Amino acid sequence: MPILVMKFGGTSVATLDKIKSAAKRVSREVANGYDVIVVVSAMSGETNKLVGFVNDTSQMYDAREYDAIVSSGENVTAGLMALTLQEMNIPARSWQGWQVPLKTNSSHASARIEEIPSDNIMEKFADGMKVAVVAGFQGISPEGRITTLGRGGSDTTAVAFAAAFEAERCDIYTDVDGVYTTDPRITNKARKMDKVSFEEMLEMASLGAKVLQTRSVELAMRYNVKLRVLSSFEEYDPNAGTLICAEEDIVESNVVAGVTASRDEAKMTLSSVADRPGIAAAIYGPLAEAGVNVDMIIQNISEDGRTDMTFSCPTDQVSRAEQAINAAHERGDFNFAGLISDTDASKISLVGIGMRSQSGVAAKMFKVLSDEGINIKVIATSEIKISVLIARKYTELAVQALHDAFELEKA
Ligand code: ADP
Ligand code: ASP
Ligand code: MG
Repeated sequence: MPILVMKFGGTSVATLDKIKSAAKRVSREVANGYDVIVVVSAMSGETNKLVGFVNDTSQMYDAREYDAIVSSGENVTAGLMALTLQEMNIPARSWQGWQVPLKTNSSHASARIEEIPSDNIMEKFADGMKVAVVAGFQGISPEGRITTLGRGGSDTTAVAFAAAFEAERCDIYTDVDGVYTTDPRITNKARKMDKVSFEEMLEMASLGAKVLQTRSVELAMRYNVKLRVLSSFEEYDPNAGTLICAEEDIVESNVVAGVTASRDEAKMTLSSVADRPGIAAAIYGPLAEAGVNVDMIIQNISEDGRTDMTFSCPTDQVSRAEQAINAAHERGDFNFAGLISDTDASKISLVGIGMRSQSGVAAKMFKVLSDEGINIKVIATSEIKISVLIARKYTELAVQALHDAFELEKA
């Protein structure tokens, strides 16, 4: 039997009724002749609640226990989905990550998948099971402890299963009917795309479009998984949603494919550090060791052999960054006059493979922001994206203005 992977996100399994309507979609695919692997998230809000419990119990928590706790939401929905399917006379069984087993490394809270043996589940399919319901987000470390794949990680579970079981397709059911030119919650001019390239989706995901976890797009690209995002609330339509596909499969595309926003960004500036060989290594080495994900970096021109060094990182890593820098300072690795942390920032990015061959996109972006009176704190560019850091209160305004200026509502 051909295999299909269907993933249902938190809002799609938020109540027993929603689980029932998701199960109906699954039953339709079973009737179409598929053996189905269903990957479920926790009910919406559940994982946030569990993360809150952890934070309220322990500030510097043990990540192994964090994973034991926050992974549990998926256990409930996996069992409920299997029961719901059984009530519909569909042979179904639930699997927690460790039972598969979905093997990961030991990086708790952001574990990477190493292997998914298919024999356990394939044996059951051979015995007549029609649906394997897998708890998303979870794995097991080489030490035998429960791991999680990072927030939004059920998408990655789904794509990894599709790759491991050579599924015909991986359908990601969510609360929007596809991938849009920007978050449809920010502007109603956002346009649903029928297709988007792996490269663009990868950038959009990593720059804040949380509709797919970045790692899931990476895996789909590497293993050539046919990946589709579609709504779990709309009428069934075999051509619905957005297909994430190779660049060659897209006939024509806009220079800018999409605009993304990532809130919770912070800008940190070290003033008056010595401008000498090795200074960047002295600063960013300890930050990397402390697990700080440094994103954008600017080094100002130096005056009298001193310079300012600015970088951005997620807001929840600011205190870790401050600790690492102060420790390096105390060790005498480098000195500086001041450390300023600005935790009021959003990163706004334009993404598009057309930017490889078209100049002027950055200039236009800066002009649009300036016309809105929005100050740019930091800029970073790569071949297919331009990102700027701005004050958080301008997030929506910047996205809307850029979406309009680049006419993204038009295909
Ligand atoms: P799920 O619980 O199904 O995994 P998520 O909340 O993780 O769903 O992702 C879906 C959400 O992603 C949408 O509700 C939407 O607000 C947001 N989103 C952000 N950017 C985009 C985009 N470019 N296209 C579609 N959705 C987006
Ligand atoms: N439940 C997890 C989260 O909220 C994983 C997921 O939904 O993808 O991050
Ligand atoms: Mg998600």
